[in-house]
Amino acid sequence: MNLTGKTALVTGSTSGIGLGIALKLAEAGADLILNGFGDASAALAEVGRHGRKVGHHGADVSDPAQIAELFAYAERDFGGVDILVNNAGIQHVAPVEEFPVERWDAIIAINLSSAFHTTRLALPGMRQRGWGRIINIASVHGLVGSEQKAAYVAAKHGLVGLTKVVALETATTPITCNAICPGWVLTPLVQQQIDERARESGDEQRARHDLLAEKQPSLDFVTPTQLGAMALFLCSEAGDQVRGAAWNMDGGWAAR
Ligand code: NAD
Repeated sequence: MNLTGKTALVTGSTSGIGLGIALKLAEAGADLILNGFGDASAALAEVGRHGRKVGHHGADVSDPAQIAELFAYAERDFGGVDILVNNAGIQHVAPVEEFPVERWDAIIAINLSSAFHTTRLALPGMRQRGWGRIINIASVHGLVGSEQKAAYVAAKHGLVGLTKVVALETATTPITCNAICPGWVLTPLVQQQIDERARESGDEQRARHDLLAEKQPSLDFVTPTQLGAMALFLCSEAGDQVRGAAWNMDGGWAAR
């Protein structure tokens, strides 16, 4: 597949799944706009090895004004966004009656509302140029629930709902919108949850095994590279009629 001449924006792509997807898109020839916190130099260098052009914008996607600045940068320096991957996300684990209100608000803003803002800003340019791909990185938690993850599960179910509406509103155009729903992927977001378990048991290997065994029948992690390959498929011609799907890559999690 050749994505030469297309620009992809991947939110939250300084690490984890976002970086894996950015790498795959760059490998296929797309120019890349990276976004996310922390030092972006390693991600810029890694993606730059493949892509023709790569930049980073540090917008905090919980803030609609900063998302607007990110899109102004994309328009000015890259001529717009053809492939939008809404990936930035955070997690917090607590029972609903103890769930900190500010964590609820942050998770809804970053994991859900940000995708509304990026989508509404990306669509006019996609319609004008006559092609577009919107890929929302939801989660298997966009399809099923788990205890202690009220905000995350609510946001990811919301993201799957937003995906369906945008897919319907673009159904007769060459713009598609889909969600990818990963199971456990070994990234900093999940390592944090393993560390919390290991603090109780003192055994990281066991914590890792138990985490998988509870939910993911394959007992193996999904990788950012595999998710990148699925994103690449959605960008291909073969993906033209995949619309409004919430596609799980979850080691069998949702099959139970
Ligand atoms: P990660 O913590 O490795 O990466 C998150 C990225 O988002 C980082 O680049 C971080 O800087 C960025 N980010 C966080 N808050 C941001 C903000 N306010 N503004 C801009 N950027 C921000 O996490 P990950 O595991 O790679 O997760 C990526 C996405 O995949 C998330 O939406 C997550 O919910 C989803 N997901 C992850 C898993 C998993 O097992 N890791 C499973 C299913 C879904």
